[in-house]
Amino acid sequence: ASEIKVAGIGKSYGAFCALKDVSLDIGRGEFLTLLGPSGSGKSTFLMVLAGFERPSQGKLFRDGVDITDQPPERRSAGMVFQGYALFPHMSVAANIAFPLRVRRKPEDEIKRRVGEMVERVNLLGHEHKLPAKLSGGQQQRVALARALVFEPGVLLLDEPFSALDKSLRGQMQAEMKRLHEETGTTFVFVTHDQSEALALSSRVSIFNHGEVLQVGTPQEVYERP
Ligand code: ADP
Ligand code: ADP
Repeated sequence: ASEIKVAGIGKSYGAFCALKDVSLDIGRGEFLTLLGPSGSGKSTFLMVLAGFERPSQGKLFRDGVDITDQPPERRSAGMVFQGYALFPHMSVAANIAFPLRVRRKPEDEIKRRVGEMVERVNLLGHEHKLPAKLSGGQQQRVALARALVFEPGVLLLDEPFSALDKSLRGQMQAEMKRLHEETGTTFVFVTHDQSEALALSSRVSIFNHGEVLQVGTPQEVYERP
């Protein structure tokens, strides 16, 4: 797992300032949740971490190395984004195998790692199905497996469960918590649901108008002294 240092990141779109001087230390193996109203800059921040958006100011470090100018494929970041759907024409196994294919891993290693992930997310017997043949929860588990299969330094999740109904959402939260504990990966998770943040996070950071207002454990942030 990686530790990430965010030093004075700003992001402007023309005259509009989506992120203002955001600084955060994200610890190795931490589960950090970004909370805040819609439009507060949470997704933009995740896109900067992923390398899909270039910051206008500031620097990013992973394990002490400056990655500000690194392209997404070198960031060792797994992603579960709303707009980052499963490949509909590929089987479950092929979807999960994809990040390993891109990295030109040998076939025997791909088979082994895909097999392990399929088991880890309880999709045994579904390997050769197309995503459309799966339930919503199963599709989410394929997305989690695909994001974790290459053992990324950090997993970035942008409201991955917002389309699910309440009970399924609860199940997926438990699943995510388990995967975090089992893999020890650093998780950065975006939500606007306070109870979700409380249930999952080691720390919470509150975004508002592109700024981090507060960062701390859920107790520190929500319990008044
Ligand atoms: P959140 O994830 O907290 O809902 P976003 O990061 O998506 O917030 O958006 C922060 C602000 O930045 C919003 O006002 C949004 O309209 C603006 N924004 C995001 N991306 C772009 C873009 N590509 N061009 C212009 N404005 C953008
Ligand atoms: P399908 O033929 O149903 O489209 P594939 O056989 O193409 O699925 O699977 C894609 C990749 O996933 C394969 O190259 C293989 O490495 C891996 N794979 C397929 N089935 C399994 C399985 N049951 N367990 C582990 N890995 C698998």
